[in-house]
Amino acid sequence: MSFISRNDGLIKISDNNEILVADTDGRMLYYSYDNATYRRTLQNVFLKTYFEKNKRIVYQLNENESRYIVKRFYEKAKNVLFKDNIEKDFYEYLKYDAEKMKEIYKSNIPIVPPDQYFSIYVKITNGCSWNKCLFCDLYKNQKYSVIDFNSLKKEIHEINNYFGESIKSRKSVFIGDANAININNNLLIEYIKYIHEMYNLDIYSFMDVFITNKTKKLNDFIQMRDNGIKRLYIGLESGNVNVLKLLNKNIDVNNAINFISTIKSSGIDVGIIILAGAGGIKNYNNHVNDTVNFIEKLNLDKKDIIYLSRLIEHDEYQRKLNLNGIAGLTSDEMEEQVFEFKKLLNTNAKIAEYNIIEALY
Ligand code: SF4
Repeated sequence: MSFISRNDGLIKISDNNEILVADTDGRMLYYSYDNATYRRTLQNVFLKTYFEKNKRIVYQLNENESRYIVKRFYEKAKNVLFKDNIEKDFYEYLKYDAEKMKEIYKSNIPIVPPDQYFSIYVKITNGCSWNKCLFCDLYKNQKYSVIDFNSLKKEIHEINNYFGESIKSRKSVFIGDANAININNNLLIEYIKYIHEMYNLDIYSFMDVFITNKTKKLNDFIQMRDNGIKRLYIGLESGNVNVLKLLNKNIDVNNAINFISTIKSSGIDVGIIILAGAGGIKNYNNHVNDTVNFIEKLNLDKKDIIYLSRLIEHDEYQRKLNLNGIAGLTSDEMEEQVFEFKKLLNTNAKIAEYNIIEALY
């Protein structure tokens, strides 16, 4: 026997041991069966998560596997999701839907934090204004630019058309891309005021702590908070100077501690991303200890989050390690370091894992 609930732009079908979730436009969001959960991102990437010996595994499905999941999902859900008893290739339907979504932003959306998968993504800048971290190629082929106000209005109009009624299922706004809040503060406030008026939802964003610290002061953050900014996500990666140098991340550690404390005192929460594996074997202990010390100095509370991410080695970073005669971590050593971080981090903030493979919108 199946049980159907409709709430806030979502339709949930519980059928024996299976759970199927879609938005009211019929887009598959989640499907759980056989001890695994399948998530469809708006970009039409399908992710399977399951546990093996207590370890959470995330796997990106290939096209055939994705087609199978979509077929199985809609065989069970189509009569509930669509009024007409339609017969169509639902995979192609979702693929087309993803193309429509990407047209709004004129690009892919490479990454969002794990608690923002179901946000409304609003792009106020393109790319990353720094774009030089050696471990990151998210925006490498994209020129950094700021979107003008008319383009923002057009984007929001298109987002609303795209989601229709199902926009009710979105519980926050995420403004992108990287370093999105690092634009002139008057302009930023004008943008977030407008976004907040349109959606009346909390606003979240990524932020760096080595460019933005030169331009934003406490009052700027207070203004941001008053206009809807709830949490800022900071790619700290490490509290160790040598590791940051290897990553080509221009963070001044002491300055970053003061800057993050300023953000906290404005009433905005933070999400701090730590990169396990960074700095290789040579810096293993210093990376852990200095990062743990860094976090301890911040006085975070339970509204803040520490994300533990795992380094994916890119060529440029690998070359730098080789030049310095440093060996990278094996995957077992990386897991050990994640475990150590969890054990040693002494903070009131929530600690969660951030798997870049699944951090897709
Ligand atoms: S890690 Fe962040 S700051 Fe560094 S290049 Fe990538 S997006 Fe830019």
